Formats: sequence, C-alpha cells, structure tokens
Amino acid sequence: MNKLIGVYGASGCGVGIMPLIREQYLDSKIVFIDDKKSNGLLNGHQIIDWAEFLEESSKQKFVSIAIANPEIRKALSEKCMKHSIPLIEACASSVVKMDNVELGDGACLSPFVTLTSNIRIGLCFHANLYSFIEHDSVIGDYVTLAPGAKVNGNVLIEDCAFIGAGAIIRQGVSIGKRAVVGMGAVVVRDVPADTTVVGNPAKILGKR
Ligand code: UDP
Repeated sequence: MNKLIGVYGASGCGVGIMPLIREQYLDSKIVFIDDKKSNGLLNGHQIIDWAEFLEESSKQKFVSIAIANPEIRKALSEKCMKHSIPLIEACASSVVKMDNVELGDGACLSPFVTLTSNIRIGLCFHANLYSFIEHDSVIGDYVTLAPGAKVNGNVLIEDCAFIGAGAIIRQGVSIGKRAVVGMGAVVVRDVPADTTVVGNPAKILGKR
C-alpha cells in the first residue's frame, strides 16, 4: 500500500482513535507510532517509533495525534510539519457538525460529539466522547475536551487549554491559554492563562 497512516500514541487515547481512522481510511496501512512502546502489536496494529515511521517506504504518509495532553500534541504536530507530514482528521460517524463549522487540520472527534453552528476551531482539536461546543464559540489550537465536557455558546477557549471530563463552561466565558478546567467544574467566570480551576462554582486551585 502506498498510503501509511500513523496514529501517534499507543495508549488510552490512541486505542479510541484507531477504530475511527480504520473506518475512514480503508485504502491505507495503519500503524501506531509510539516512542516508548515500539516493537509490538496493539489491537492488531504494529507499533513503531517515529524514526521507523520516517524510514517506511510509503509514498504518502499521514499522522493522527491521539494524545490528550495539548502541549505534547503541539510539539508532535510541529515535528510532523517540519517533516512535511500532514495531519489527518479522525471523525466518528456519529459526530454532528451543524452550519458554518471551521475546523483546523488534525482534529480527533470521538463518537457522539456535537459541534453546533458558527464555530471556529484551530489545529489538532480533540473532542472526546459526548462533548459538545455550542454556537458562536471560538476555540484555539491544540485544545482538548475530555469526555462529556460541555462548552456553551459564545465561549472563547485559547490555545492548549484542557477542559476536564464533565466540566460545564457558561455562555460567554473565556478560558486562557494552557488553562486546565478540572473534572466536573462549573465555570461561570473567565479563567486566566496557565491557571487550574476546579469545583462548582469553579475556583482557582493553582497557577503554573
Ligand atoms: N508518546 C510518544 N511520544 C511523545 C509523547 C508521548 O510516543 O513525544 C506516547 C507515550 O509513550 C504514551 C502515549 O504517547 O504511550 C501517551 O499516553 P498517555 O496514556 O500518557 O496519554 P493518553 O493516551 O491518555 O492521551
């Protein structure tokens, strides 16, 4: 096969994204890329490291970065760009995208994600199971929504922010760069960059 797809990350996120990639790209050889766990098989797919992926002879190579940590995704995405290897989208068949959704390259959209209307999303977005983004929201690059995260309308989420499982972001709120919203938090006020918030109503736990 001339097309080779690497799902980067042979761990929890990777095993959730692999079946989506397999369903979408039927004409390709698909492997996991992992820099610590190469030389084995995971769910029927070979695991190779980045150097081995680069050495493969396939004419066309693509990567899906299946790692929840935004800053690791950013670093790996920059590495792919340096080698001119494009990022591809993983999108479950149950995902709902409504009108005027702009989505950057390399997104991973897990089953039952909903993106409603007039939404702009940057590079390498991860939306895990049952998360949603409501109307008129703007999402930066490398943002992660953990399972069940609920982003209401007119929200701004800046680059590399991580929204924990089941968190709820109130309409109109802004979340700064690299901020972390804890699991189940109810965010009713803006969250500054590099800050972790938890609880209901969400309060600052710490700054990086
Ligand atoms: N990983 C890698 N290269 C990197 C960073 C991470 O191959 O530069 C791999 C790491 O070895 C691990 C996976 O990515 O197997 C991330 O797994 P983890 O369980 O930490 O995250 P998750 O799958 O939950 O996003």
